[in-house]
Amino acid sequence: MKREPMLAQIRERQQPPQQPWDLIVIGGGATGAGVAVDAATRGFSVLLLEREDFGKGTSSRSTKLVHGGVRYLEQGNVSLVMEALKERGLLRQNAPHLVHNVPFVVPNYVWWEAPFYGIGLKLYDLLAGKYGFGKSQILSREQTLERMPALRQDGLRGGVIYHDGQFDDSRLLINLIQTAVDHGACALNYAPVVELHKDQDGFIDGVVALDRESCERFDLRARVVVNATGMFTDEIRRMADAKVETMIAPSQGIHLVLDGSFLLGRTAVMVPHTSDGRVLFAIPWHGHTVVGTTDTPIDAPSYEPLPFEQEIEFVLETAREYLSHPPTRADVLSVYVGIRPLVKAGGADGGKTSSLSRDHTVHIDQSGLLTIVGGKWTTYRHMAEDTVNHAITLGQLDQRPCVTHDLPIHGFLEGVEPDGDLWVYGADAEKIRVLAHQSSELAQQLHPDLPYIAAEVVWAARVEMARTVEDVLARRTRALFLDAHAAIAMAPEVARLLAAELGNDETWAANQVAKFNRLAAQYTLLGVAEASQSQPKKD
Ligand SMILES: Cc1cc2nc3c(=O)[nH]c(=O)nc-3n(C[C@H](O)[C@H](O)[C@H](O)COP(=O)(O)OP(=O)(O)OC[C@H]3O[C@@H](n4cnc5c(N)ncnc54)[C@H](O)[C@@H]3O)c2cc1C
Repeated sequence: MKREPMLAQIRERQQPPQQPWDLIVIGGGATGAGVAVDAATRGFSVLLLEREDFGKGTSSRSTKLVHGGVRYLEQGNVSLVMEALKERGLLRQNAPHLVHNVPFVVPNYVWWEAPFYGIGLKLYDLLAGKYGFGKSQILSREQTLERMPALRQDGLRGGVIYHDGQFDDSRLLINLIQTAVDHGACALNYAPVVELHKDQDGFIDGVVALDRESCERFDLRARVVVNATGMFTDEIRRMADAKVETMIAPSQGIHLVLDGSFLLGRTAVMVPHTSDGRVLFAIPWHGHTVVGTTDTPIDAPSYEPLPFEQEIEFVLETAREYLSHPPTRADVLSVYVGIRPLVKAGGADGGKTSSLSRDHTVHIDQSGLLTIVGGKWTTYRHMAEDTVNHAITLGQLDQRPCVTHDLPIHGFLEGVEPDGDLWVYGADAEKIRVLAHQSSELAQQLHPDLPYIAAEVVWAARVEMARTVEDVLARRTRALFLDAHAAIAMAPEVARLLAAELGNDETWAANQVAKFNRLAAQYTLLGVAEASQSQPKKD
């Protein structure tokens, strides 16, 4: 996956007489990547354009769960849970190197909790059917502590254990883009769509896009243009019609990342009812503990939203209630924030977003712009199938069946345990090991607290289209999300390696480091405090 050949393909199609793409997909998050995979594997020509880096939006900032959503069961949305549980099973089948079964303990401190959650989680098992990850079980106090010794013992009566899936979101995203490209798609990062093109009847028939690196402008034609821009959905819809009504009610969620010792193992904790009626998870991830999340309505989308002080306190407070080793602000290694592109239900006015629909929506504007929005990471495949089915009708494309149900995702490798070195790369890990054996420099670990080696930077630049220090430290590796200070310390060496690979000079490298350090400061609590005085709109 290299940038130059992608640009060459785009230029070639632009030559007169212009040959339209079957689909142009705007947005390189989970949704757009899923559509590109679906369309390419049905044999359609597809171009995916991403304004920033692949996954820079919400898709690298999730709770990292491949799940049915126990919470939606509580809300009575059985069909959503059933669909997500099926997709959870398919994703584990098709990307076994990345999706792993994690046991979750729901601790009970009140007598009625065990039978109540026990029954709910049995239903969760039943709805999964043949796609089940393991049976739930009510545990005694002793069994609960055996499974989760890190729980606060005072007042603990017992627990319920159930199973769900876990993954690395930006790694899966890169693997999906690679899958699409493996099947003939063209995908370009740092390529914003700046205008939509209409035919003489006012119907969308293409886009104008830029290559941000060279400022080259492309005027491209497509039979169908798919808007898969998540929280930016309305911005693209307004390019087609400035007067369209807003569809999206953005809501942000934060996660705090702590040392792995806060959970002591590979079992996660799920708190089904926090003080304000939300669900909170504490999950082991890449040797660390991820705690979250929140659901706070915000006014407008942005790439690097800041956590609100009350969100940080809420997550820490709730974690302290359940963990024997109560975390403090000093324990927070990184804080990251993502924005949910929730679809407004009818007259929803952006009030309490936790009750807005988590289902996906396929919407066709009068201009013929096909928008896919909402849903969740777990259901990206089903969303893509639905979208391409609509695209076939809209663009009068050949009727070709979806083939992603059993499609192996790039990196497919069975029997990968989520530990050891380079496991997230699946089948590609061996190639990175070969690279690392070529020189002692490439085998070098980049920071003593994180497992990443120099060969991963070179690999990211050569075959994963990483263009900046941030791409490498935030999304090709997860250093920034795991430990912001360690990521800052790694930045100069990453910049040096990247500059050598991309043919850039020392000034470029120095600018990259400075830019990354400014960003990474916002992933530390000190940096957040300095950058933010703002308060949430409402809650
Ligand atoms: C806090 C939080 C936790 C979550 N946890 C989970 C979870 O554990 N499991 C789960 O299944 N789901 C989870 N989700 C939901 C899931 O992360 C999202 O549904 C999914 O990532 C949305 O993907 P997307 O592709 O629609 O949006 P995005 O990832 O935001 O992608 C949209 C892309 O469009 C690009 N774009 C915008 N404008 C343009 C333009 N003009 N030209 C080109 N590109 C453009 C953006 O740069 C962006 O990369 C969570 C969400 C949040 C917020």
